[in-house]
Amino acid sequence: MRPYILKETNWKAIRETKFELAVLPWGATEAHNYHLPYGTDIIEAESVAAEGARIAWEKGVKVIVLPAIPFGVNTGQFDVTLDINMNPSTQLAILHDVVDTLNRQGIYKLVIFNSHGANHFNNAIRELGLKFPKMFLCTCNWFKAVDQKGFFENKDDHAGEMETSVIMHLTPDLVLPLTEAGDGAAKTFAYTAMQEGWAWAERRWTAVTEDTGVGNPYKASAEKGEKFFNATAQKVAEFFTQLVQTPEEKRYI
Ligand SMILES: [Zn+2]
Repeated sequence: MRPYILKETNWKAIRETKFELAVLPWGATEAHNYHLPYGTDIIEAESVAAEGARIAWEKGVKVIVLPAIPFGVNTGQFDVTLDINMNPSTQLAILHDVVDTLNRQGIYKLVIFNSHGANHFNNAIRELGLKFPKMFLCTCNWFKAVDQKGFFENKDDHAGEMETSVIMHLTPDLVLPLTEAGDGAAKTFAYTAMQEGWAWAERRWTAVTEDTGVGNPYKASAEKGEKFFNATAQKVAEFFTQLVQTPEEKRYI
């Protein structure tokens, strides 16, 4: 029973604690190549947030991790069976209700702890920030906290070496043998502007990748996953700690 995980703790503990920071893990439910579970992004978001919160909590930071939202924006995967799409406008509505609750109860800091590349919360934060001026709302992509280059040989966009390694470390029973995995080969847009990164369009996933993966998973290992997970959790803990310990008048330097 971890006092910084809301789904595990209880009213007896909660009513005696003045929480200063809430963390909302946000995942997705989608195919991850042939070999990883549909809940990969949920498992990652919950686990990295929990470990970051544990490290911060042990330094006296009053942080609470909320239950994960399991569905992400999957508009580009509409034809992949049981990829469950949650539209950005629905995400805004959910976020509104969570923020409304925290605001009313005096927990004025929230991190939306994102695990899925197609979830974007910047506009929601702008809109809700106007409506709830006491709240400090922010978002982070845990998978960008640490440079993958120092840990992995192949760059991972989706279900590749990084995600496979992390899930091998966290929930090895949920990973099929790598001999079952596809190679994660993926196409890019033919448009130069998009290759250069200054123009954007949504990718139709099934036109881009055969096995739903984007990134080769074959060099993944639980050891690599553990190292990356721990390095990431450490940085996440530092972020949580800074958010709580930095006085509002010193927010900008
Ligand atoms: Zn993923």
